[in-house]
Amino acid sequence: MLWGALNVTDRTSDGRPIVVADPEGSRDNEVRPFQIEGMDVRGRAVRLGTVVEQILSAHAYPEPVARILGELLVLAALLGSILKEPGIVTIQTKTKGPVPMMVADYELGQDGIGHLRGYADIDADKLDTYGKNPSFKGLIGSKQGYLALTIDPGGEAERYQGIVDLTGDSLAEVAATYFQNSEQTPSALKLMAGRDEVTGHWRAGGIMVQHLSRGEVGRARILSPAGEDDWRRVQMLMDTAEESEILNPQLDLDTLLYRLYHEDGVRVFDPARLQKGCRCDRARLLAMLKTFSEDDIAHMTVDGEITVNCQFCNKGFGFDPAGLASEA
Ligand SMILES: [Zn+2]
Repeated sequence: MLWGALNVTDRTSDGRPIVVADPEGSRDNEVRPFQIEGMDVRGRAVRLGTVVEQILSAHAYPEPVARILGELLVLAALLGSILKEPGIVTIQTKTKGPVPMMVADYELGQDGIGHLRGYADIDADKLDTYGKNPSFKGLIGSKQGYLALTIDPGGEAERYQGIVDLTGDSLAEVAATYFQNSEQTPSALKLMAGRDEVTGHWRAGGIMVQHLSRGEVGRARILSPAGEDDWRRVQMLMDTAEESEILNPQLDLDTLLYRLYHEDGVRVFDPARLQKGCRCDRARLLAMLKTFSEDDIAHMTVDGEITVNCQFCNKGFGFDPAGLASEA
């Protein structure tokens, strides 16, 4: 696939382009809710361009790890866009494998924009034993691992946390199991991340469809035979969406959804905008440093300075070890 058409203004010393702005008229970095006509099926589609490129290129992740983190960011956008008021949705994976922890979060700000961030912890020695192209199962999926979804609606509302085993061949499968088990909502997802072959920039995207309640709230969903057929068709059509469509900057999500569901009729709603965001700040890092012992501080000091990098965005913060106590 040849996509290109990105607005490249800067390059790194080794010639890699840095994307700072979306190209003119870009329809990247949005979540598009939709509904299939005549069915109790709702869905959302996500497309990430510069947002996922900025997040993934902040660290030198091995390609297969970056790909799954890209998918996790798509999942965070799909779930986070449920928020109606400012709040935070966090998705975290924990395993004993070569990627012990991965996290992506979506913060709905006062500006109405969804701010995404994420990072992955890597056990490099373990990862080396998995060969060049480790599978999802190898990297993340394992019986001892779990995925946790936390919804922090902010304000007075209560925090919610749900957990599901990381068993499955893909993150999409794990998420579908989560919705089935925790919310009794039949769901199917497609999550993708990959590099633009022309620019080398990361792109990511996905689609989620869900069958809504037919019974009373809190009771198992009952599907009629006709409803079953409809639901199966909706999932099958979603499956036909290819990477070259889901990640293609030239193909906006409306057109993609129309391609998939025009026979039944598809209604799209206003999109939610997405940006790369981070909540790191100096005061919080200082508070953390103040809890360390003198020994730890001495270990961290290099050339008379302590530099702490944000795990998410990799921004560096410098501290004078002698002045820690007095700095407010
Ligand atoms: Zn940060």
